[in-house]
Parts: sequence; C-alpha cells; structure tokens
Amino acid sequence: MASKISLIVPCYNEQESLPIFHLEAGKVLKEIGCDYEFIFVNDGSRDDTLSVMKQLAEWDEHVTWISFSRNFGKEAAMYAGFCNADGDYVAVMDADMQDPPSLLPEMLHLLESGEYDSVAARRVNRKGESPVRSWFARRFYRLINAISDADIVDGARDFRLMKREMVEAIIEMSEYNRFSKGIFGWVGFRTCWYPYENVERVAGETKWSFWKLFKYAIDGIINFSQAPLDLASWGGIGMTFVAFLFLIVIVVRRLVFGDPVAGWASIICVIIFIGGVQLFYLGIMGQYIAKTYMETKHRPHYIISETNRDGVKKVR
Ligand code: UDP
Ligand code: MG
Repeated sequence: MASKISLIVPCYNEQESLPIFHLEAGKVLKEIGCDYEFIFVNDGSRDDTLSVMKQLAEWDEHVTWISFSRNFGKEAAMYAGFCNADGDYVAVMDADMQDPPSLLPEMLHLLESGEYDSVAARRVNRKGESPVRSWFARRFYRLINAISDADIVDGARDFRLMKREMVEAIIEMSEYNRFSKGIFGWVGFRTCWYPYENVERVAGETKWSFWKLFKYAIDGIINFSQAPLDLASWGGIGMTFVAFLFLIVIVVRRLVFGDPVAGWASIICVIIFIGGVQLFYLGIMGQYIAKTYMETKHRPHYIISETNRDGVKKVR
C-alpha cells in the first residue's frame, strides 16, 4: 500500500476549475485510503486563484500552496512541485480536469504491481481540439522521435504517477530550459502507457495559443536533439556539390558555345536563395547559442513569494 501520494497542480488563472478539481480528486484519494497531499502552485495568476487556494487550505489540511512572484510558466510550476512534494508516489495534474482524477486508482494499482516505475496517461484521441492543431501536434511527435533519443509518445500528457526514484531523477535534471515530456522520457525507467479518451476543460480556457504551442514544440526539438545543427553541415555539403556541377556546366558552355552575356536573373535568384539558406542556418545556431546562454546564467527556475508550508526554498 502506498504510504503517501502527492498531486502537483500548476495553476494559472484557474479560479473556477480549482475547487472542482480539489473536490473530485479529494474524493478519489479518500476512496484509495492512503495519505495524500495537494501541492497547488500558483503561477502568477491574474485572477483569484491564490485566494481560492488559501480558502481550500483552510478547509483541507492536505493542501499546500506555493505562490510564484510572477508567471514563470507551467514547466517551472511543475519543477517547484517536484522539489517540494514528499510523497512516495507523485503525479502532476492539470487543474482543469483534463487529467481525470478517476484514473488514479487504476494507475496506482498498476504501479503497485511492481512491474512499472511510472504510469503515464495517454490520450487516444484529440476530441474537441481543432484539426489544424492536431495535425501539427502529430507532425511534431513524428519529427521529434525521429531526431532525438528521448522517447516522446504522441498524446502523452504531463499526467503520470511516478515513484520516488523517478522524481529524484527529474529533480536532478535542473536545466533551465525545461521540456518535461522529453525529461520524463530521457530519465528512462519502466513506463506503462495508460490510454484514455480526451476530456475537455471544465471551466476557463486554454493558456496555449497556437503560436505559444508552436514555440514550445521548437523548444522541445532544440532541447532534445542536435539534428538541426547537423542539417547545416549536410545542407552545406549538398550545396557545394550542386555549385560544383554548375561550375562544370558553365565552363563547358563557355568553351563550346562562347559567352553571350546572359543569366542576370538566374544569378540574382541563386544569390538570394543561398543568402536565405545561410540566414536560416544561422538562425538555428542562434537558437542553440541562446539556450546555452540562458543555461550558463544559472538563473533560478522560479521565485516563491508566499506559501503555507514551512521549509520551502523560496528561490530555486
Ligand atoms: N499553466 C501554468 N502556467 C502557465 C500556463 C498554464 O501553470 O503559464 C497550467 C494551467 O493552469 C493548467 C495546466 O498548466 O493547470 C495546463 O494548461 P492548459 O489547460 O491551458 O493547457 P492544455 O490542457 O490546453 O494543453
Ligand atoms: Mg488543459
């Protein structure tokens, strides 16, 4: 029997969803019958999420809340949760009920069978999501799995119940640019994929615009693959080869047909094209350099302004 379960809940403007989540998850945990804690992380919400958290903590001694000094993003909120959760089993869950608490007993059961170190929820469909978004999401998973050695499963959410050992490994991965789907895969351990039907949010709206998601995808690729850098080398070799062929053609043409001055347009096209390709590759390198720059600064992942728990490290 599990002695303690910690549920980490990153919250950004979730004043409507959070009480519902707390109620539903609380029911499930009571039924399971082991010790548990909620770790609500207020990620600089602009609504009344923090007061809702404080209220819930007054009613329920299982609630710990941590409040950031500003919005640091879901990744930072999850990291803060991991660093402060002390359960033997730990899960990250969204406040919007898209990670159904009703899956917890079965997930726990699978973990306790001893065969796995983590049980991860995986959406088998993307009901309620726009087709364009789904299409891009699928392409992203294809691509990142082809070019990186972290195993990143399509439809996987951040929702997974894991054992202490895995949590410790995740805390050790203290990189500044965090991409949890990659980190979970990278640390390894035996993972069981638990399929379920997608659920739509109970209240509020998604914080992920298409553009934000796109940038997140690019971050994921840059954080877990060096393939884009290789692209520059291979592209360069390819172009050199093509240029060499052109050279031969031009020399032969000069010798055989003489040299009527022509081809101004084609030269301009080639120059612009090559300029574009070079800028593109420079941009890729810039992305990696920017990441390296941020990592070397060793800035904290988050700053906590308030919490109801003793002994929490405020800056980390
Ligand atoms: N979230 C957060 N900080 C942010 C954005 C989101 O803590 O800057 C939380 C949000 O409150 C929710 C979870 O991350 O609990 C997932 O966000 P959302 O439901 O908007 O994403 P989606 O489910 O649409 O991918
Ligand atoms: Mg959601």
